[in-house]
Amino acid sequence: MRFHVITIFPEMFDSYLKESILGRAIQAKKISIKFYNPMDFCEPKKRVDDRPYGGGPGMVLRSEPFLKALEAALRKLKVKSVKLKVINFSPSGKKFTTSYAKESAHKYTDLIFICGRYEGLDARVEKIIKNWKLKIENLSIGDYVLTGGELPAMVLIDSISRQTPGVLGKYESLEEERVSTSEVYTRPEVLKYKSKNYRVPKVLLSGNHTLIDKWKQRS
Ligand code: SAM
Repeated sequence: MRFHVITIFPEMFDSYLKESILGRAIQAKKISIKFYNPMDFCEPKKRVDDRPYGGGPGMVLRSEPFLKALEAALRKLKVKSVKLKVINFSPSGKKFTTSYAKESAHKYTDLIFICGRYEGLDARVEKIIKNWKLKIENLSIGDYVLTGGELPAMVLIDSISRQTPGVLGKYESLEEERVSTSEVYTRPEVLKYKSKNYRVPKVLLSGNHTLIDKWKQRS
């Protein structure tokens, strides 16, 4: 899976993508992430944002730098077998779910994410992308408003990468496909904390996997 992220703040991704499972997946070339910064495509002495038509507070991201960043991303994809979708983050978009992540991992080779900021992106970008006959979807990661699309992009990269073959090792294998619970324990068997003992549930020490699975599914 190849992710292409259009953002004016690419450095925000640095530490998250360097570490742990995603860091290893990038090193092993199971996934790749490229950034395109609309600031690099701004005309000389022009800002990436401007005042909204119709008035109101906040600034709107201008179309031209974003379209040029998008064109740069598309130029990188000149391979016949590319299966591409463009995702525009928006709090009022379609809701992102695990099944959306699963479908994306299986259906596409390349995903382009457009990260908005401030009051959002000039609406004509979406219309132009549709004119290019590209698949584009407005996507929300939840019913709250964030300051930008960078966290949503990281959420999708994380969640879709987990569904990409070879990204999770056997210890971290997909919990959606096994019996799992958020109530988990590790050593010591008896935790002594401030003169009280906290024990691991007996069933987990029983070695009886039918009973253990039943316990995990109990609520
Ligand atoms: N006025 C805009 C609207 O109603 O769509 C909200 C702009 S929001 C402050 C700035 C950017 O953050 C959005 O363009 C989008 O990229 C991102 N964003 C904020 N909340 C989001 C959410 N829940 N899901 C996905 N993207 C979100």
